[in-house]
Amino acid sequence: MQLALCTWPEIDAWLTRSKGIIVPVGSTEQHGPTGLIGTDTISVEMIAKRAGEAANILVAPVFPVGVAAHHMAFAGSMSLRPETFRAAIRDWAASLDRHGFRRIYFFNGHGGNIAPLNAAVKEISNELNPGRAENDRLECKVQSWWQFESVHALCQTLYPEGHGSHATPSEVAITQYAFPDAIKSAALEPRIAPTGRFTNAEDYRAAFPDGRIGSNPALANPADGEKLVDAAVAGLIVDFQRFTGNGVT
Ligand SMILES: [Zn+2]
Repeated sequence: MQLALCTWPEIDAWLTRSKGIIVPVGSTEQHGPTGLIGTDTISVEMIAKRAGEAANILVAPVFPVGVAAHHMAFAGSMSLRPETFRAAIRDWAASLDRHGFRRIYFFNGHGGNIAPLNAAVKEISNELNPGRAENDRLECKVQSWWQFESVHALCQTLYPEGHGSHATPSEVAITQYAFPDAIKSAALEPRIAPTGRFTNAEDYRAAFPDGRIGSNPALANPADGEKLVDAAVAGLIVDFQRFTGNGVT
């Protein structure tokens, strides 16, 4: 069930049954010459909506722009400063908390969001929970789609070589499954991108000129994307239900 497609009386009624909600958190940033700029947002939105439909979980609108300063030397990338991101996440959580949501599951699609999400979650708890009874406290969780054990194992099976860490074949495969009309092709040279360190956006572009890190996204295909989405949906449902106590808190 999608929050955006509900009315307020429906949410009032929902809250008598469940105080849990998934907030998908994406990013808008370059994903190499063949990966879509919306990759991280598209991935978490699709997986969260599928899980919501399959297991009757409420899903908030996707938070579409994350902390991606290191991608800003590539056209089209967008980034929030960490303090802006933290403040916005805090306001989203405080809004939901005000209506009675007490289990907010931030379902993340971008590595650069993890540290600021964890910081935001700590801030929110410190601000909202003092003085509350134990059973009335807000709890938040941060989980990234690729961290489910089954998804991690599937990535290793599908791409024993050339998975890498940015513009990976797994994330590109998910977007190919989601938007088959937007599949791109380009020459990838070298076939598997280099790996290494970087300190800032210019440095990143110098070290990884086409935007990929360690990956060969030409391995991606929509059928793999479907398998990855199915595995992530299953992982998300189990993990969310564990977090909320079967959806009823
Ligand atoms: Zn990504």
